[in-house]
Amino acid sequence: MPESPDLSVVADALHAAIAGRSIAAVSAPGPLAVRGTPAELDALVGQRVASIRRRGKFLLVDLERDAIAINPMLTGRLQLAPPGAALPAKTAVVLTFSERPRGPKDAAAWTRGAGWLLPDTGPAEVRYKDPTQMGKVYLRPSGIDRPIPGLGEAEQGPDADDPALTLDIWRDRIRRHPGELKNLLRNQSFVAGIGNAYSDEILHAAGLLPFRKRSSLAAEEVDALYQATRETLAAAITILRERVPPTFEKQVRDFLAVHDKGGRACPRCGTRITEVKAGGSITSYCRGCQH
Ligand SMILES: [Zn+2]
Repeated sequence: MPESPDLSVVADALHAAIAGRSIAAVSAPGPLAVRGTPAELDALVGQRVASIRRRGKFLLVDLERDAIAINPMLTGRLQLAPPGAALPAKTAVVLTFSERPRGPKDAAAWTRGAGWLLPDTGPAEVRYKDPTQMGKVYLRPSGIDRPIPGLGEAEQGPDADDPALTLDIWRDRIRRHPGELKNLLRNQSFVAGIGNAYSDEILHAAGLLPFRKRSSLAAEEVDALYQATRETLAAAITILRERVPPTFEKQVRDFLAVHDKGGRACPRCGTRITEVKAGGSITSYCRGCQH
């Protein structure tokens, strides 16, 4: 499942590659993924892209009038390609964009001059594919207030890597959540963007066990969890910026320390990593150095 670091890299890349272009054509080979009417989909054509950004586990595309919100869920992925390149299997939505005068001034520094940016003088395409069809592409026509599950005000806390989420705010917010730490980190109403993989990584970095209760944490452990959250997400983004382009549809996870690494040696203490399967998801942790 794409999480905050994965989607941050995709959002930066698509903003750099697409903002300033207009939608020239749209098609939905997998119409089940689309939440909106065919007329609303057709009405996207001709609109210029103002920005592409991430919020929690959503990718938000702001057009000059309407907007699109993509929630990739488990298996949704986005590909950047020149039009005419072979469509990936299980492509659900294809957006074709016009040429543009120039790229956006506010493109992320790491994207500048990248070889995978398609020429401004030619068209570009973004394909959304989803083998399990669990993810959704929500159309948000101007003037229609369509609720999007997971994106409501009360459903989403601050982004876990939002600079505005200070240690003081973290300490205050975490008081409302007494339960197990892994569930706490994955609770989007606490902080947004963390899922199954990065919750394991953050807890390993913090030296805390995933099934430990927040109510058992000492004050310095609450602070350590904040630091570990920030450092783990930032370090992952640095690696993913190097490793993901130009195949943005690829999920790179091999560099993780513990998640899905059951049976291997912990990179910090050498103990064999423990893996627990519960509710269809894997939790990995180290009994040697997480307490
Ligand atoms: Zn260890």
